[in-house]
Amino acid sequence: MTNAGTLHRIPTRPWRWVPWLVLSQLAVILVWVLAGWHWGLALMVASHALFMVPVFLPNSRFYAPVLSRLPAAGNSVWLTIDDGPSEQTPAVLDLLDRHQAKATFFLVGERVLAHPALVEEILRRGHDLGNHSHSHPQARFWRLGPGTMAAEIEGCQQALQAVSGRPVRWYRSVVGMTNPFVAPVLRKLGLVRVGWSARGYDGVG
Ligand SMILES: [Zn+2]
Repeated sequence: MTNAGTLHRIPTRPWRWVPWLVLSQLAVILVWVLAGWHWGLALMVASHALFMVPVFLPNSRFYAPVLSRLPAAGNSVWLTIDDGPSEQTPAVLDLLDRHQAKATFFLVGERVLAHPALVEEILRRGHDLGNHSHSHPQARFWRLGPGTMAAEIEGCQQALQAVSGRPVRWYRSVVGMTNPFVAPVLRKLGLVRVGWSARGYDGVG
């Protein structure tokens, strides 16, 4: 990534959604009082949906900046591989070597600690690393509170730092879900959130 400097979009205002939430709920109260509960309730449901939907959109910038497309990429693509390291990692590395391709591996902290040699092999073959949470809690990642979310992202960061000896600057949300408590951790750790513009659907049978 020679132009990585221009790709760095660490969140600078992680709480910028708060005033909008307050304003929207004040509007709900106003409508409730002036136009009746039917309209008030409808507006309340709509306003809550507005704040919920972006959590599940992998490329939504509502709660944090996200890189989903390379500026002026020409014919190049950024290959990213999630969820390792695992016993499948060596085969993936061989495949990349056969095509002289480099990738970024978004790793899970617990698996990093379980397979440090595989992490070293990823780096030895010239690939890059990213943070993909410490335990990959895919069913509940969307609703993690501030403390658990920080522990997930910081735990992975510490595992990557301990095994690779270098700071990691890329982050990918579990199943692409980004709730309001992700951005403050990214700002603290200097991490850039990465989405995607195409996917292989290789995680399903
Ligand atoms: Zn994943």
